[in-house]
Amino acid sequence: MAEQRRDTGDGRDTGERGAPPAREALERAWDDLVATARRTVAEGLVVGTSGNVSVRVGDTVLVTPTGVPYDRLTPEDLCGVSLDGRRVLGSLVPTSELPMHLAVYRATDARAVVHTHAVHATAVSTLVTELPLIHYMAAALGGPVRVAPYATYGTEKLAENMLRALRDRTACLLQNHGTLTYGPTLSQAYDRTAQLEWMCRVWLTASSVPGYTPTLLTEEQVAEVGVRLRGYGQP
Ligand code: 13P
Ligand code: ZN
Repeated sequence: MAEQRRDTGDGRDTGERGAPPAREALERAWDDLVATARRTVAEGLVVGTSGNVSVRVGDTVLVTPTGVPYDRLTPEDLCGVSLDGRRVLGSLVPTSELPMHLAVYRATDARAVVHTHAVHATAVSTLVTELPLIHYMAAALGGPVRVAPYATYGTEKLAENMLRALRDRTACLLQNHGTLTYGPTLSQAYDRTAQLEWMCRVWLTASSVPGYTPTLLTEEQVAEVGVRLRGYGQP
């Protein structure tokens, strides 16, 4: 399930290379990114300017700017960086979590990354080091979702901890902070965040019934679902 990618060993990544993306493709991706960032607020996954979203177009990474309310972003506010973090588009300062976003693009075949402070996921991140296997949808994220140890927001240390927690997964929790997911599109990265938040909510709900402890699935049961999910949906 997971899309983590092999290191080529010579410092190159295995992402697509070549001519810079057409302006039109960047503009379309920016509109999608702004819509996704607004959705994180509308659906209660963040408050205010918390969280951030990015999308990769060729070797350009479009990111939400730091500290700007998403409803104020216009089609002209395009904010883009190269894979090594140089600003290549626009004048707004990129998200403070650029190290996390770039670490994901460098290490995986991600095309989109979503970071939120979703309530139930953040609560779970303070209680355990891995989300207990409360539901088979863990398989859609590559298996049991790990919690990256706490580090200050925006630091390389946080990016490092996050990348370790993300190994063979498309999602992780950030201790006392929030969520990070990635995927081949913005909508899939977003859906993974929503699934993760939902699963955290189920676990918290089940674990808070006095006198009862939730039954959990085994890693084998979840792995079996991972195989089955490959054939899920319409042909
Ligand atoms: P930015 O506004 O810099 O994206 O920061 C929000 C955040 O969630 C930091 O972890
Ligand atoms: Zn954050």
